[in-house]
Amino acid sequence: MPVSTSWSWSEPKKQRELTTVEDHILWTYAMLSVTRQMMNDREKGKPDRFSEGRTKWANIEMTKYQRQTRNISTLDRDDRLAQEGLRVCAHCGTIAPDFQWDHLIPRSKLAGEYIALNQVRSCPSCNMSRGNKDLMLWHRQNQTFPALSVLRRYLKLCYFYAKQGGYLGDPACDAVEGGLPFDPRHLPRKFPQVESLVWDYAHPIL
Ligand SMILES: [Zn+2]
Repeated sequence: MPVSTSWSWSEPKKQRELTTVEDHILWTYAMLSVTRQMMNDREKGKPDRFSEGRTKWANIEMTKYQRQTRNISTLDRDDRLAQEGLRVCAHCGTIAPDFQWDHLIPRSKLAGEYIALNQVRSCPSCNMSRGNKDLMLWHRQNQTFPALSVLRRYLKLCYFYAKQGGYLGDPACDAVEGGLPFDPRHLPRKFPQVESLVWDYAHPIL
């Protein structure tokens, strides 16, 4: 049975300074993108292109997003994957025939607005444990790390809501006080080793 990736959520020593909501989202998105490329390379038995460390490459990647030579891909690409796949808990991978729908960004913070992609299957245990907590705060407290496909969807949702609410350029602390429906400061700045990460519990072959 799959288990969540355990992770101590240590912060990197030398950090790129992240101030705005957009900075926080883009940094995690850049780390995710590099990590995904590393996973793909390993699956295909290709040589390691990122031997100098993910941080360096994530910095390069983030600059591309900031200059908009690269953009966060749209949510509809995740749509099909979200509807299909095994009936497993998106958070811990447990087979969950009696799954409940959990909301990546708590519905209570979205003023009733509905986006299908905000929903993931969750086992009753994860759903109850998380309640209404910020997704990344919940992982931090449990010392677990999300499956990367869930993290990617979450980041896209965060970006969507931050853009829609006009928060992208605001300092993270001000935005949270001003009603941003997630806390960008809880997003991971450092990722576990590639070997211990899971892309998607519902699509193990991808
Ligand atoms: Zn679970």
